[in-house]
Amino acid sequence: MNAIDTRAVHAGRRDLAGLFVHVPPIDLSTTNPLADVESGGDAYETLATGGRPVPGSSHVYARLWNPTVARFEDALAELEGAEEAVAFASGMAAFTACLLAMSTSGKRHVVAVRPVYGGTDHLLDNGLLGVEVSWVGPKEIEHALRADTGLVVVETPANPTLQLLDLDDICAQAGEVPVLVDNTFATPILQQPMSQGAALVLHSATKFIGGHGDAMAGVVATGPEWAASLRRVRAVTGGVLHPLAAYLLHRGLQTLPIRVRAQQESAQRVAEWLAVHPWVDAVHYPGLPGGDPDSVIGRQMSGPGSVMAFEVVGGYPAAAAMAKACQLATHAVSLGGTETLIEHPASLTHRPVAAQARPNPGLLRISIGLESVEDLCADLDQALDQAVDQAANQALTTRA
Ligand SMILES: *Cc1c(COP(=O)(O)O)cnc(C)c1O
Repeated sequence: MNAIDTRAVHAGRRDLAGLFVHVPPIDLSTTNPLADVESGGDAYETLATGGRPVPGSSHVYARLWNPTVARFEDALAELEGAEEAVAFASGMAAFTACLLAMSTSGKRHVVAVRPVYGGTDHLLDNGLLGVEVSWVGPKEIEHALRADTGLVVVETPANPTLQLLDLDDICAQAGEVPVLVDNTFATPILQQPMSQGAALVLHSATKFIGGHGDAMAGVVATGPEWAASLRRVRAVTGGVLHPLAAYLLHRGLQTLPIRVRAQQESAQRVAEWLAVHPWVDAVHYPGLPGGDPDSVIGRQMSGPGSVMAFEVVGGYPAAAAMAKACQLATHAVSLGGTETLIEHPASLTHRPVAAQARPNPGLLRISIGLESVEDLCADLDQALDQAVDQAANQALTTRA
């Protein structure tokens, strides 16, 4: 098999030369002409129950199948080492579909390890989909399993603490219960959880896969059985990915390896710089000493990635002032794009999380983009100076 850089460029495109086109065609049809009632009905039946189209048959309706989306799915599956992938309108739509697909098999209990992305935490914790969750530590999974446990859900590296989990151990504890790994932070370039035994690998493709902050999507790489079940849920509930977004994501895959490595290289340097900065209390990054306690880098992951979290001296007031004072780094949620983004998890991405599990209020999360490291550090330096000054003044005023 070719190297992942080669596959990232060619996956989902190998038939194009035979069609005499260089880039994937975009199919915007919402409906598709039918040859006759009978074959149209057969095609509908196949697709609405999660099957793939029979070659030469109509795709019937865009909620059932879209060829531009299918190309992106095939490409992503190839990079994850999965047989299939199913794409959705967002990461949360993808996660919702996984939970609904689970409940069609009669299971309603999930065992999950915190922290996870705030939206995921909220969806599991508030029972919206009739799911009951047991939150456990990474070593307590086996004990929490029940007869009606349908999924073990983990995120590694975790949003926002960058905690790393040992997926060999997680999958061993889960036994027969399927493991869903949110691989958004690592991307298939740094980690392919199917090789550790994950049944479902989920991405918020809004992040690294699109990589330019202009396409919202989710995708799940998995085997044929889950894929059919996810497509059936998607056809019924309608959380479909738009073909224009699928085109952008498929294009994003071509530069994913170089973006991920370049951003990672910069992130390592920024993390080392922050770690010795006098106004920084702690840096959470898997590439720093102590950031990878189970030594999963080199075994399960090929590198620490480009997202980190850090604590500013002065706690919440200083962290809030710093987010505001950044000029080059954009103060915004999301991550994984070409632009550096900084945000305050406790107020934003992790706001819906139950108080006892919410991130430390002094924590900021930063996703390193493709800017020069020198420019980024200069910006963070001036923002830290301002933040610590302001927090100190505020403390003085409150005392007076
Ligand atoms: C953003 C994010 C999600 C949710 O994805 P959306 O595309 O915003 O719906 C899920 N998991 C992780 C780790 C994320 O960062």
